[in-house]
Amino acid sequence: MTNVKPGHIVIVGGAIMGSFSAWALRQAGFGGAITVVEKDPSYQCSSTGLSAAGIRTQFGTHRNIQMSLYAAQMFRDIKAIFGEDADVGFHEKGYLILGGPQQLAERIAAAQLQRSHGADIQVLYPDELRARFPGMNFEDIGVATFGAQHEGWFDAWSLLSLVRQAARQRGVDYVQAAVKAFETDDAQVTGVVLSDGQRIACDVCVLAAGAWSGRLAASLGIDLPVVPKKRTVFSFKTPFRLDNFPMLFDTSGLWIRPEGEGYIGGIQPPPEHDADADGDFEPQHALLEETYWPLLATRIPAMEQLRLQRAWAGH
Ligand SMILES: Cc1cc2nc3c(=O)[nH]c(=O)nc-3n(C[C@H](O)[C@H](O)[C@H](O)COP(=O)(O)OP(=O)(O)OC[C@H]3O[C@@H](n4cnc5c(N)ncnc54)[C@H](O)[C@@H]3O)c2cc1C
Repeated sequence: MTNVKPGHIVIVGGAIMGSFSAWALRQAGFGGAITVVEKDPSYQCSSTGLSAAGIRTQFGTHRNIQMSLYAAQMFRDIKAIFGEDADVGFHEKGYLILGGPQQLAERIAAAQLQRSHGADIQVLYPDELRARFPGMNFEDIGVATFGAQHEGWFDAWSLLSLVRQAARQRGVDYVQAAVKAFETDDAQVTGVVLSDGQRIACDVCVLAAGAWSGRLAASLGIDLPVVPKKRTVFSFKTPFRLDNFPMLFDTSGLWIRPEGEGYIGGIQPPPEHDADADGDFEPQHALLEETYWPLLATRIPAMEQLRLQRAWAGH
């Protein structure tokens, strides 16, 4: 906070990043005005509301690992931070990331790096995998890594409501409007222009507009490599039950985790079906039939009996 003088900070986008930025500014002692400009307070199209809300420490860079360790600790301390009623439904059940025999050295090195930064990552081999995760097929697997702590999933809506409420209680002002342009003076953002033509002056502007940030940054001549890509989530039921079912990442790229009475999962579309998707929230149903389901049934044969409940897509 040493280089931000009291003044006015405008944050563009009020979902998880924008709201936590506002809250963290207050936590760090920023006493000036903070305005969060959010175009859709229902957050229907925000990635925050549409995400799988998984948290992992299995990353390749120390900053990502430390951010997740910080967040996992926050989830454990959620009542102390946000009050006795706070609950983000943190299921600390780990990410299980599978690798083929040729990925042995790579996955072991990744686990060592993660452990050196405080993550609790176990390296598991097929015999241990079969014993710990019965019902899954590990025939083609050479190694897997599993986060025994600090990993799993949570309720992103609850977290967003908590942090918004806490930010408001600390005097953060939420304005419902879309930012359509920036005012600048000598390469410094001095204000934002809203879609109704009103302007809000600021000393510092934080861009937290998620998948829309690349386009907004481009209007400032900044080449920010953020584009909206569509990701579909399938929600389904099957008779398969396993108490310690983790967030599973398969060698094929598919992922699956428990959600309520069933599961959610998805897979990245092939590049030829992965064009920029601004404004397109139609789930890619073909991915389920053609790719996801057969791959999932290969990994977990009981998933052959999958029954789709619903699907949604986010950017
Ligand atoms: C299907 C799916 C699954 C995911 N799963 C995971 C996961 O398991 N784990 C994980 O860590 N991440 C996951 N993610 C990614 C994660 O959801 C995002 O990284 C995160 O939610 C981004 O938060 P954000 O606040 O930056 O963006 P958003 O949540 O998209 O919020 C941006 C906000 O900015 C607002 N906005 C945009 N433009 C303007 C404007 N011009 N003026 C005013 N307001 C504006 C929007 O209305 C929106 O509310 C997933 C994403 C998707 C789509």
